[in-house]
Amino acid sequence: MKSINPYTGETLKLYNPHSELQINEAITRAHDTYLEWRKTPFSEKSSLMNKAADILESKKDHYAKLISLEMGKMMKEAVAEIEKCAWVCRYYAEKAEGFLADTPLELPDDKKAKLKYNPLGVILAVMPWNFPFWQVFRFAAPNLMAGNTGLLKHASNVPQCALAIEEIFQEAGFPEGCFQSLLISSDKVKSILHHPHVKAATLTGSEKAGEIIASQAGEVLKKTVLELGGSDPFIVLADADVEKAAKTAAKARMINFGQSCIAAKRFIVHTDIYDSFVEIFKKEIENLKQGEQFDESADFCCMARPDLAAELYEQVNKSIEMGAKVILDGGRPEEGSALFRPYIISEITPEMPAYSEEMFGPVATIFEVNSEEEAIKIANDSPYGLGSSLWTSDMDKADTLAAQIESGAVFVNGLVASSPYLPFGGIKRSGYGRELAELGIKEFVNIKTVTFA
Ligand code: NAP
Repeated sequence: MKSINPYTGETLKLYNPHSELQINEAITRAHDTYLEWRKTPFSEKSSLMNKAADILESKKDHYAKLISLEMGKMMKEAVAEIEKCAWVCRYYAEKAEGFLADTPLELPDDKKAKLKYNPLGVILAVMPWNFPFWQVFRFAAPNLMAGNTGLLKHASNVPQCALAIEEIFQEAGFPEGCFQSLLISSDKVKSILHHPHVKAATLTGSEKAGEIIASQAGEVLKKTVLELGGSDPFIVLADADVEKAAKTAAKARMINFGQSCIAAKRFIVHTDIYDSFVEIFKKEIENLKQGEQFDESADFCCMARPDLAAELYEQVNKSIEMGAKVILDGGRPEEGSALFRPYIISEITPEMPAYSEEMFGPVATIFEVNSEEEAIKIANDSPYGLGSSLWTSDMDKADTLAAQIESGAVFVNGLVASSPYLPFGGIKRSGYGRELAELGIKEFVNIKTVTFA
């Protein structure tokens, strides 16, 4: 497995994938550890989780550098990612016991009953490269606190991050086997999922991977949580603060150089304010500077891999050939290069890839609409339903329209962002299940009814 700096193309490190024997040993270790770990008191688990947070904070520059080098994220964004990981560790260290406390049930007679939230066992996490620490910690922190153990199959282009995360849990003092990273290709996932000791799986990734993993898990009746792609609408109504909306829109599209499932991707703007929105939005994106990951004066670097840049260009170019209007022209990326420049396109019609496919990079599509009804119709005319952003000065209207938007979250007058405090997940082809907050820690537990006669 290769760790490559996408900005320079330099190979940083090479790793041998784990063998069948090593995989089986890891599964056995995860299971054996689980049998003891599930009995560990919350106070002990919390103290280890807080230690993991301390390690993340004390070595944040070191971990951030790994992220930047392996997938091209700006160093300052990578530091923020590590800080967020420490936050989610501390959040669950504090809250897990309360979230998983027995719930008394009311019965019609004087008998007693309650719900218990017991761990399931070994959980497989298949994770993407775009937030290579955050995606993993938002799985690991609640699940280890719940008493499960974790096996990570990380994206093949971030092996250094995968190994560093395993080391953090080891250094924090978690028992060996609580959290292990497997350096494996995706064709090894099925046999792991089918192993009797592996009880469930979570995937954050593409729809294609979602379909495959969900069906492989279905063959052996194991639960999955799927966090898949998104094509989030960013709806700006006529009564919105257009300047604030347009400036936030630029941030929302360019976060992580556009490679975020919850980046705003479709900007649906009322005709009354359309021209001013486009002018401010374009200026904000045009003014961003490209540079290497560690250049403090730069705003963005490159895509995570050259093939991703080529694929994105293909989608945008095809849409332009089909008649999309170019508002900001990013040009053609060089062959074999991960460097890419932002695009803004409009006059998008349903046959174009830009209408229905996820544009996983810095390409914004703008739609001009004449009414709120039309805005909601376009917002919902997507196979995806992850996040959404709605801009208006009328909160009653926002509340009514929020109910009509087909997505897992609506952020009114704000940028969609994940937080330990907010349940996160999608509907439609964006997946199912929730991560984070109380709902997240309850995905992989046995909600057990206990009655006392
Ligand atoms: P991806 O190609 O699906 O990869 C994600 C993970 O799945 C990687 O570990 C990958 O391993 C593995 N994988 C791929 N195909 C597989 C298969 N057939 N069987 C088993 N494992 C398989 O996705 P990506 O390009 O890395 O990530 C971008 C996608 O993730 C976008 O669609 C984005 O929207 C989505 N995403 C969603 C969320 C969310 O929370 N909803 C968050 C972030 C990203 P290899 O690297 O070895 O192929």
